[in-house]
Parts: sequence; structure tokens; C-alpha cells
Amino acid sequence: MYDTLITGGHLLTMQGDGVGFIRDGAVAIEGKEIVAVGPRDEVDSDAREIIDATDRLVMPGLVDAHMHSSAVLGRGWAQEVETWMASAYAPMLRHSNPAHAPLGTLLALIEGVMNGTTTFGDYNRPMNDLIQSHLQMGSRGVLCNGISALNWANREQWIAQGWQPGDPTPLDEETFQRTFQAEKQLHDEWDGHDDGRIKIIFGPHAADFLSREMLLEIQAEAQRRGALMHLHVAQDPRENNATLERYGLRAIPFLDSIGLLGPDLIAVHLSTATDEEVDLVAERGARMVCCSNSIGIIDGVMPPIARFKEHGGVAGLGSDQAPGNNSHNIFSEMRATAMYAKIAATSPLPMPAWSTLRSATIEGATVLGIGDRVGSLEVGKEADLIMLDLTQPPLLPVLLEPARNLVPNLVYAETGRNVTLSMVAGNIIYRDGHFANVDVAQVHRDVTAASAELQAATVDDELALGTPIVRLTRDGKI
Ligand SMILES: [Zn+2]
Repeated sequence: MYDTLITGGHLLTMQGDGVGFIRDGAVAIEGKEIVAVGPRDEVDSDAREIIDATDRLVMPGLVDAHMHSSAVLGRGWAQEVETWMASAYAPMLRHSNPAHAPLGTLLALIEGVMNGTTTFGDYNRPMNDLIQSHLQMGSRGVLCNGISALNWANREQWIAQGWQPGDPTPLDEETFQRTFQAEKQLHDEWDGHDDGRIKIIFGPHAADFLSREMLLEIQAEAQRRGALMHLHVAQDPRENNATLERYGLRAIPFLDSIGLLGPDLIAVHLSTATDEEVDLVAERGARMVCCSNSIGIIDGVMPPIARFKEHGGVAGLGSDQAPGNNSHNIFSEMRATAMYAKIAATSPLPMPAWSTLRSATIEGATVLGIGDRVGSLEVGKEADLIMLDLTQPPLLPVLLEPARNLVPNLVYAETGRNVTLSMVAGNIIYRDGHFANVDVAQVHRDVTAASAELQAATVDDELALGTPIVRLTRDGKI
């Protein structure tokens, strides 16, 4: 007798090199593991809980491979400005209250889970506190605290020395040591927690926020521990300017020159990479995360995921940050990725729906180093899956023969509102609008108060730097 049998729905298993469609299928689960998957008549048996999936689509949970969860407290606050990082995002983070951060993380996870995400690649500080939100939600986390030699608290000193937003930022050894130590402690304490549901990786922030020596020290430590590195790569012209000034090379050639581009690297963004640099990152076997909405809104750029995948690279999708992106929704990222890639190429062919869906599932899991455990519905893998209602738009009408429309409708039209169930490691964490482990109404109340406090603390700084949101509000434009 199985613990759980999900039966009667259509399956997208994501097995093979497509989407692994099975009509009228079933998934059997024991403990946290999938023990049978296939056509219903081959799988059906007794189970302690039988979930009727008639008129439902059953597929792997989505993977948000790069996000900064707690920044959601400043949702919509930092965008439509040049030098986004220095002028809008960093000033807001500087005023954020660490005591409120776990609340922000919980809100981001609520948004993700209700829209089909089961794995979160959260890059955030202070992760030792935020991890409690991941544990409470019951979702899967591939987490890091982030390591940086950048101390925004010193900004007034930089400005006094002539620094301006967009200039290379001075590096601070004490900040590096403190954040590096915190990452090691996080790995010591939490890696593999809850039977592997929590995985800790190393998060060197960016090529310009760390020196060559610091990057190599992080790499050596990560390799010693068998941990991946999660690094923002070629996100901003600022980064290339800094590595050119310090080492005479743009960011990607610089990272390659010190041996950082390799299979243990998760390279996030690649927004400013040249074609040759994109090819180099793919050839070195590094993995990519594409954050289409975030980079589209804050920089007006489509990251080069299509080229990266055409050169054999494995790429996942990420929601990045809500102050600029406004949402943590991988359905929204799928649509944006498939569409912006076409616009960037002035061609309808790049990033077809099936390939985009693979980036949101099995490839995203592979990017985070857990593709052998989740990301597809396969015997022996953990039961991380979602169900969607096929009885209403935009997934209706469902056509199966001679042509199936499920995958295009999922990628180009679904928003997440049709998600009816989310399961992680065999546990149902969300069903029919209700969360198993979180009091959503309470979170919403607390978040509103915390967010208002953040806004009040930030506003003078924002005004001083000319971030447009306050001016646009005053002028009645937003
Ligand atoms: Zn990021």
C-alpha cells in the first residue's frame, strides 16, 4: 500500500529530453519518494491517501534558482533608474531591519508556493535567521548567506573621496572575513538539514565586490566542502569597469583567468556578456540562471539564455528581487523569458515553450545541484510536485490529439492562479488556497507594518539620491 496515490491526471514528468507527457497517469509516493509513475492502469493500487487528479495536470514543482527573498519588503521600490544597485536597491537594503527579514522571506515563499514554486535558490542575509522561514514553509531551499567585501555603511566616506554611483566600490577586508565566516558557519550548521531538504552553497557576491585573492579563498573552501558557488556574473557595466581597472580584464575573462568558470559555478545573469563570453561560460561547464523580469525591468536587457542553451549550457530561471521585479513567480518568468528572448532576437524561434519549461523544472534543479533528486517525476526521486486545474482559462480548452496545447498554454498564459496543490518531499504544503504551515493572514498584517517602517527609514536616502518613486508619487504619476 502506497502512502499517497495521485491518479487520473495528465502528467508532465520532464523525463527524457522533452516534457515526458503521460495521458491519464498516476504517481505513487512512499515517504518522501516517488515509487511509481506512469499510465494509471499500470500504477493504480491502494494508498492511505488517494488524490483524484481528474482534470488536473501533475508536474514537477517549479524551481526559482535565484532570489533575494527578504527584499520583498521593498516590493516595487527600486526601478526605472540608472545605476539601480547604487542609487535605489542598496540604499533601501541599508535601512532594512534584520529583525523583519524573516517575515519578508515568508512573504516571498508564500507568493512562490501559491504560484507553483517548490524549490527556492535563496541568496540572502542573515540566512541563519531566514532559514527559519524556509523550514516553516516546508519548501525546499538551496541557500547561501552571500560573501562580499562591500560595506555600504562606509558610503559617506567613499563619497567624500569622490566615489559616485556606478564607480568601482572600495573593498573592505573585515566585511569579507565576517561574511565568509558566516557562510562557513551556515554550511556547518545547516547543510543537509531535514533529510537534505535544505542545502547550503557558497555565495561570493560578484567579481567586483571581492578581490582575486578573496574569490580564490572562497573557491578553495567551497571545493573542500563539495559545495557549489552561486555568483552574480557580468550583471552590470560597473562590474566590467571594476575588473578592467583592477586586473585589466572584463569580468568573465577575469573569472576565467583565475579558474572560477567551471562546473561548480552557478553564474547568475550574464547580462553584459559578449557572445564570446557567453560561449566561454557554457564551454567551461558553468551553470546559468536567467532572471528575465528583474533584468528586463531594472536594466532593460534580456540575458542571453537562448545562446547559452544553444551552446550546450544548462540554465534555470530566477525571480531575483521584488523591489525591481515586483514578483516571485516562475510562471511569470517563463512567459517573460520565452517572449523577451524572441524580441531580443527579432525572431519567434528562440526559447520555445518546452525548453523554457525545462529551465523552470529539471534544468533549474540541475543548476542548483539537486537535479538527481527533484525536477522531474521519476522513480527514486523525491516527490516535489504541483497540480493545476485544467477546467478553466487559460489552460482550457485542453487539446491532446493530434497536437497538445498544454505546454504552450502553461508557458505563455498561465499565471499560477490554477495551481491547486504543492507537495515537497511527499508533504502537501499548499492545497486549494490554504497553506499547511503558515498563517498567511498574520504574515500579511505583519509585513505591511514592517514594509511601512522600511519606507519611512529609507525615504530621505532615496530623495538624496534621486530614485524616482518618491518624486513620481508626489507628481501623481504613480
Ligand atoms: Zn541577485
